[in-house]
Amino acid sequence: MSSCVSELVCVSCGESYPPTGREMTCPACGPDDGILEICFDLDRVRSAWRADPLTSRPLNHWRYRELLPLDPAAIPQSWPVGWTPVLDLARLAREIGVGQLLVKDEGRNPTASLKDRASSVGVVHAIERGATTIATASTGNAATSLAGHAALAGLAAMIFVPRNAAAPKLAQLLVYGACVFAVAGPYDDAYRLCSAACERFGWYNRNCAINPVLVEGKKTCGLEIAEQCAGRGGVPDWVAVSVGDGCTIAGIAKGLVEMHALGMIDRLPRILGVQAAGVAPVEYALEHDELPKEVTGTTIADGINVAVPRNWRKAVNAVRASEGTMVSVSDEQMLAALAQAGRHGVFAEPAAAAAIAGVKVAVDRGIIGASERVLAVLTGSGLKDTVSAMRAVGQPIQIEADLDAVAAGLKSFQRARQN
Ligand SMILES: *Cc1c(COP(=O)(O)O)cnc(C)c1O
Ligand SMILES: [Zn+2]
Repeated sequence: MSSCVSELVCVSCGESYPPTGREMTCPACGPDDGILEICFDLDRVRSAWRADPLTSRPLNHWRYRELLPLDPAAIPQSWPVGWTPVLDLARLAREIGVGQLLVKDEGRNPTASLKDRASSVGVVHAIERGATTIATASTGNAATSLAGHAALAGLAAMIFVPRNAAAPKLAQLLVYGACVFAVAGPYDDAYRLCSAACERFGWYNRNCAINPVLVEGKKTCGLEIAEQCAGRGGVPDWVAVSVGDGCTIAGIAKGLVEMHALGMIDRLPRILGVQAAGVAPVEYALEHDELPKEVTGTTIADGINVAVPRNWRKAVNAVRASEGTMVSVSDEQMLAALAQAGRHGVFAEPAAAAAIAGVKVAVDRGIIGASERVLAVLTGSGLKDTVSAMRAVGQPIQIEADLDAVAAGLKSFQRARQN
């Protein structure tokens, strides 16, 4: 662990554990409720950054090594993750009706999603512990990123995915050489099976929800937002993030809070969590302080198709602490946002486009004001799910090799654009 880690605190009972412990979850609360949070001694981080300023470090997420629960000596030098670009989409901001729309394009990570942040940290942590095999259950991106980073590091990867995972993600998994189990049933079944298999076979469990180290990896997105925005007009009023298990939003919020405490930014944005209308248990929990008894709907956005979120408490706490809120969006609204964002040059998978769809809903409801500045985190690349993308944008114009056919096709394209 980094020498700046001060303690691990249970999010349910508040019990504190020393950083040297090997616990993944609070022994008193058990593996379902006893999610731990890693806390840092920020005074130590501050003096380390004074001695070796961030500005002189490489532009990737390892630049925040003091804020990662890793031995600094174990951090790879030739393995860049993160420092994804923040794009200022002025025309899209006008279409949506906000003062500024920034988009942080996490699809530009090594395996094309934000999950690379967590998986890279998880793989380094697994190596520190002497593991040779690392496992995860995932709706897709956590698995593909784990498989990619395990392959880079020479670890074996055991992957449990729901059988309906998108084809490009399955291809990535197999290409990276992982052992891939396509489980009959939803993500929740894959999750339980993976946890049981880790117990039985002694594999390192990468599942973000119960492994607090992984949330620290996702945190680097929030650290970057603070550092990148500090240099371009300051912190946005809102940060919009889609929510499945709840680790991403909790991690990003934690990163922003730590950067605020470190004096990198002078205020905190409000957090807008976005769920799929058919699968919105965290939105329910924000209001009722518990999960719904049952979730029966579904969504095409596999990254957030999580009926039993493991980290809802961290997510709800993060949204509340920021004075933010949550909204949910239909699959149609996600696909419309996917197509609309694409016309402005960014290609997101449905679970990522959900963040932009959520901003639109929040504007319509008066939650986000017309002059406010918004940053939407695009959590994964559109190339992850081209079937959904084609549903959003339709088919190419089929023609013979004939110039008149081009003229006729052009007319129909322009007509369709005007509608
Ligand atoms: C995993 C994922 C999310 C949600 O992250 P959680 O930590 O499960 O809340 C959102 N979008 C994409 C593309 C993802 O892969
Ligand atoms: Zn506890």
